[in-house]
Amino acid sequence: MSLAKLHVDLAQFERNIAAVQTRVTPAQLMLVVKDDAYAQGVEQIAARAVANNVNLFGSFDVPTGVRVRKTIGPGPRIFAWQTCGARAIRQALEHDIDLGVGDAAYLDRIAAIARAQQHRFRVHLKIDTGLHRNGIRIEQWPELLAQASTYQADGLIAVVGVWSHIAEASDEDDDQSRAVFDQAVLSAQARGFELEYRHLAASAASFARPEFRYDAVRIGAFCYGIRSAEGVGESELGVYPISTLKAPIVRIDGDSVVLGVGSLDGLPSTLSRLMHVESEFGTHRVRQIGLDETCLDWWTEASAGDWVTVFGGRTAASATDLAERIDTVGEELLLRVSPLIERVYAN
Ligand SMILES: *Cc1c(COP(=O)(O)O)cnc(C)c1O
Repeated sequence: MSLAKLHVDLAQFERNIAAVQTRVTPAQLMLVVKDDAYAQGVEQIAARAVANNVNLFGSFDVPTGVRVRKTIGPGPRIFAWQTCGARAIRQALEHDIDLGVGDAAYLDRIAAIARAQQHRFRVHLKIDTGLHRNGIRIEQWPELLAQASTYQADGLIAVVGVWSHIAEASDEDDDQSRAVFDQAVLSAQARGFELEYRHLAASAASFARPEFRYDAVRIGAFCYGIRSAEGVGESELGVYPISTLKAPIVRIDGDSVVLGVGSLDGLPSTLSRLMHVESEFGTHRVRQIGLDETCLDWWTEASAGDWVTVFGGRTAASATDLAERIDTVGEELLLRVSPLIERVYAN
C-alpha cells in the first residue's frame, strides 16, 4: 500500500460542471468518464454528476459504461465508443448503453446480436474527419448509411447520432474536420435518420468555439479542472483541479527531507529537479524522485508525518503545470497515479 493519497474534491467537481454547462448551453454536456474517470473513481464521479443534472455519459468502453449504469440506475444515456466483441455488445444490451460505431463489420456484429436477442440498439455513427483513428471515411459513408438504413428498417438499430473526434491542435485543421462532419450529418439526415445527437468537440474546442458544440460536447478534462497543456489558464476557464496528490514526510535525512511517494506511485522521475512541492511553510524543490521516495531540499519546520502537496488544489502546481515541463498533458499525470494510492473524497 502506498503512503500517498489522492484527495478528490467533489464540491469543486460540482462547480466545474456548473461552469462547463453554463459555457456550452444549449448543447448538452456528455461527461467523459473513461479510464476510471481519469483515475479519480468512476462511481463517485458519476454519482455526483447525475445529482447535478448530467444526463449523458461517455465511457469509451462498455465495462466502464456498466459501472456507470450500476451507479446511476436507469434513465441517463451512456455512450461507449470502443469497437468491441459479442460479449461486450450483449453487456451493452443488458445495461442500455448507446454504441459508437466507426466500422462496418462492427455494425454487422451489433445487428446480428440485435436479431438474435430481439433488441434494438441505439447507435451513433462515426465519420472520420481526419484523425484516422477509427471512423468511416467520407468515401465509404454513403455505403455505411445504406447498411444502417437496412438494419434500422429491420428494427435492429436506431441511428440516434453522428459524431467524430478532432485533434484540437489547430483551428484550421479543426475547421476542415468540421466541414467533413457537416457533410456527413447532412447526408445522414437526407437518408432519413433523425439525429438526436450530433457531437464533435472535446474540452478545448467546446469552450473556445461555439460552432463546434452542436447537440452535445464530450468533456472530461475541464470538468476535472485539467486545463490543456500550453492552453488557457484555470481562472480564465473558470474550472479548477478537483484532485490533489499528497504525500507524508517519512524522515529527515541529513540536509534532505524524504517524502513517501515515488515513480512507482506514478510521479514521473523525469520531474526530478523540475518541480516544487508545497507545505504549509512554503514551496520546496524536488531533488530526486526515486522508486518509492522523493528527496526534497530541507526546511526548518519539516518533520516526519507532515503532509505535503505534490500537485493539484488551488495553490500548488497543477497536473498540467508539471506535465508541461516534461512535454505531456495533465491527464497523463493523473492516469499515472497508482491504483494502490487511496482515493479520499471530500463532499
Ligand atoms: C477522451 C475523449 C474525450 C474527452 O476529452 P477531454 O479533452 O478530456 O475533454 C472526448 N471524446 C473522445 C472520443 C475521447 O476519447
